[in-house]
Amino acid sequence: MKWQGRRKSSNVQRGGGGGSPLVFGGGIGGVVILLLYFLLGGNPSSLPQQGTAVQQNQSQTSGDQAVLEDFLSVVLADTEDVWHEKFHEYGLTYTEPKMTLFNQATQSGCGLAQAKMGPFYCPIDKIVYMDVSFYNDLKNTFGAEGDFAFAYVLAHEIGHHVQNQLNILGQIQPLRKQLPEADYNKYSVAMELQADYFAGLFAHSVQEKGYLDQGDIEEAMKAAASIGDDRIQKMSGQEVNADSFTHGTSKQRKNAFDQGFKYHDLEHALVFFEGLRYQPEFQYKR
Ligand SMILES: [Zn+2]
Repeated sequence: MKWQGRRKSSNVQRGGGGGSPLVFGGGIGGVVILLLYFLLGGNPSSLPQQGTAVQQNQSQTSGDQAVLEDFLSVVLADTEDVWHEKFHEYGLTYTEPKMTLFNQATQSGCGLAQAKMGPFYCPIDKIVYMDVSFYNDLKNTFGAEGDFAFAYVLAHEIGHHVQNQLNILGQIQPLRKQLPEADYNKYSVAMELQADYFAGLFAHSVQEKGYLDQGDIEEAMKAAASIGDDRIQKMSGQEVNADSFTHGTSKQRKNAFDQGFKYHDLEHALVFFEGLRYQPEFQYKR
């Protein structure tokens, strides 16, 4: 991605307050092992390339971290431009979210944010929480390399903010309390696929602006495919159980990104709820 020297978002802040993130015991290695253990949901001794991941994380210099943070700040600025434009097309107003960068752990409006959780969006404080070390996990654990793979992860989280802005989140979230878990999981998968669709829409828009390099779209598609629930379950040695999926299969995620790239509109973003009993709506003028 062509990002150097471009505008960085002013909505970037540091986790932990006053520039010093909360640090928990166990050191970097311990946190990384915990992280892998959590992501793969299984026995740490069966983890692929565990040693490599820990080593590479420890050798990551603060210089690398600064570059990753600058990169994410430019990508966040791009999401602001893309979503202001898109909302404007529909007669809507986009409110920019904040992004908190943290190491290991920080407080969020949704509880303690820990690196082992991976990047996430908290709809209560409207902040995307990004632990920059997830870049290494993408590469080492999921085999998804390249800067645009990381941009896709942020664009997906911003997709959840878009769902919040469109009040799709507000319509779906109450179902969590009303439905049995296996039923609610279908809505959760639809929400995740829609966030992937929004990441695809974002990718289309930055491509139009001329910011993409050869191979960037493939990087994002590979990242989308690499973090499907089926793949995570298989890597952890579990039987693939579709009822427990909360993000969708690799194929579904790649396909959702693809659709967003192809249609880049808001109307097609609702297809992920087709066939479900409850379908969210949003108001717009176009
Ligand atoms: Zn998500």
